[in-house]
Amino acid sequence: MAIPLGDRFGRPLRSLRLSVTDRCNLRCQYCMPEQDYAWLPRDTLLSFEEIVALAGGFTALGVDRVRITGGEPLLRRNLTTLIEGLAQLPEVRDLALTTNGVLLADQASALREAGLDRITVSLDTLDRGRFRALTRSDAHAGVLAGIDAASRAGFESLKLDTVVIRGVNDDELVALIEYGRGVGAEVRFIEYMDVGGATRWNRKAVVSQDEILQTLSVRYGAPVPLAGRGSAPASRFALPDGTTFGIIASTTQPFCADCDRSRLTADGVWLMCLYAQAGTDLRRPLRAGATREELVHLIRTVWSQRADRGAEERLGLDAREPLIPLAALRKNAHLEMHTRGG
Ligand code: SAM
Ligand code: SF4
Ligand code: SF4
Repeated sequence: MAIPLGDRFGRPLRSLRLSVTDRCNLRCQYCMPEQDYAWLPRDTLLSFEEIVALAGGFTALGVDRVRITGGEPLLRRNLTTLIEGLAQLPEVRDLALTTNGVLLADQASALREAGLDRITVSLDTLDRGRFRALTRSDAHAGVLAGIDAASRAGFESLKLDTVVIRGVNDDELVALIEYGRGVGAEVRFIEYMDVGGATRWNRKAVVSQDEILQTLSVRYGAPVPLAGRGSAPASRFALPDGTTFGIIASTTQPFCADCDRSRLTADGVWLMCLYAQAGTDLRRPLRAGATREELVHLIRTVWSQRADRGAEERLGLDAREPLIPLAALRKNAHLEMHTRGG
């Protein structure tokens, strides 16, 4: 058997996030709060064939979980063709997608039929007015219809991701748990992160895992931690009635020590960490005709040198401000969360 590929901290390469577009039909305040953005040039975007070819290089080295993301991945035309291609890679045992849900109602069944195993929909509020203020869009009803369609499409799991922000939606934790229960979805609360693009981030707006648990305890009784988290970003809990939920405490309790994730942008830049300032261009060698063996060798070399632990390093800072100043973001779209995918 091949020796598992480990980085400098012995972390294996298991999970790949594929961003298929940097465009988005929402403007979430915690991700894209600015008026204008510089977009990746269209001719640099990888074709589906190129994405599957690169994904095959990763699966050869141990990747068995793939998540499609963006930007908003459902904006990418004929996405089901990519899903079919990825689902055919024999090593991929878990194929998932993260979406804002706006275009999901019409696509949910086709995504499932194409081979998508699991789906996560971002839902920060149940209130239409709040949604408008948070996203600069009136598509709230469409998102709820998308969740409804996903819950009927037969996915192995449906999750709802909520970024919790103080004074914005931290009074909706119970309502979101109840809503999730109604649609058969597990809710995951995400701490507000100071990633690139989150130019309005400030420490006080972060609602910590401890606070989230405290709020839910008041309503339901103390949540019980569930074992077996492994390398997953969410800690899972059960309420006394058995309802489960997750918390992704990237800001106050980072989990870099177990991180087996990396990200490929829509134009083929491979990033070792959500907080990384630069990545490895895989598009160039691919388009220059590199063989599969050469690509595998490059991926192996880069991963074996990986020492990223971005969120843990941020935790050690005394003064914590948005990661990347606006002027730098304007010059380099690759630093943006909406380019790298969540
Ligand atoms: N557009 C899709 C969506 O929103 O689901 C997929 C891409 S989005 C970048 C992926 C995830 O990143 C979303 O769940 C979003 O809430 C999360 N995200 C974006 N900015 C964030 C931030 N500053 N802190 C925490 N999570 C963030
Ligand atoms: Fe919101 Fe996702 Fe779009 Fe970012 S990429 S603005 S989180 S919908
Ligand atoms: Fe992984 Fe980087 Fe997130 Fe830490 S901050 S969990 S190393 S992606």
